[in-house]
Amino acid sequence: MKASAFSYARASSVVDALELLARHGDQAKVLSGGQSLMPALNLRLSAPELLVDIGAIDELRGISVASGVLRIGALTRHVDVLKSAEIAKHAPLLTEAIAHVAHPAIRNRGTFGGSLAHADPASELPACVLALDAVILVRSKDGERRIQAADFFTGIYETLLASDELLVAVEIPVAKPNAVHFFHEYARRKGDYAIVGLAASGILSGDVLTDLRLGYFAVGDKPMLATATEHLTGRPVTASMLADAQAALDAELDPQEDQQASVGMRRYLARQLMARCVSALLERPDLETK
Ligand code: FAD
Repeated sequence: MKASAFSYARASSVVDALELLARHGDQAKVLSGGQSLMPALNLRLSAPELLVDIGAIDELRGISVASGVLRIGALTRHVDVLKSAEIAKHAPLLTEAIAHVAHPAIRNRGTFGGSLAHADPASELPACVLALDAVILVRSKDGERRIQAADFFTGIYETLLASDELLVAVEIPVAKPNAVHFFHEYARRKGDYAIVGLAASGILSGDVLTDLRLGYFAVGDKPMLATATEHLTGRPVTASMLADAQAALDAELDPQEDQQASVGMRRYLARQLMARCVSALLERPDLETK
């Protein structure tokens, strides 16, 4: 299939892009890397009158660190996140996770901001920004909003972004010296969207975890920050504490069935991922198969 007819405008600056979005409202769509939008246009799942191409706006690109905050511009491509020494040092969870996003050809075009704005519930990066307690910066002609990642994703392919807003950057607190992280996804083949995945971060002091954040993906209509962590933090974890955490996780999950997996399989894999994660973070192989 081919896309419906649309007009095209290449924005020269953020101000220019915001002007176009304000003028065309719901009829316009932002074009970043095009790796999700172009297939959606060709399948006629989306039929905007105008594409606002932001690909030439250099101010939206780049990775920087200042005052304990790592900033990733919305147009930063997946490949640049993967290769960044700053990201590897200050947010190693992202380096690990982004290697699982699609394939090199897609990572060469797809962007960090595009992935978050697209909000596919099976995507790796939305769950990572939940785990990393990121702030998402969005701008319209009326000014800038700072949105906690935990509030940003509202449903399947839905976020708090309004039609006249541009996602401009993401801010992530740099990892503390005793920070630990975990990433794993179950997928049929490398590069496929996950059946169930988990991105996690925490602080490890001796054998005790604190500030544990478990960002699950492909378990519902949006990425999910598990609240079950209270059973796993503040004291050494026992097998029964882990079982309590898994039961609490099960109660808050609302997975869907699709061609990839049944509801029961998703619930099972999510519980298994919790055990794998806690076992890896604490270096406790005895917990892995619980
Ligand atoms: P685009 O396609 O340009 O845009 C996507 C959506 O976000 C559009 O609605 C657009 O209007 C909006 N948007 C984009 N940028 C902004 C912005 N700055 N402000 C406001 N709105 C914006 N992704 C995964 O996470 N995991 C995978 O395993 C995976 N596998 C893939 C496999 C294939 C074969 C393909 C084609 C894609 C796959 N993707 C996967 C998607 C890929 O990672 C995309 O790069 C990403 O989802 C969107 O980034 P983009 O820059 O291409 O955005």
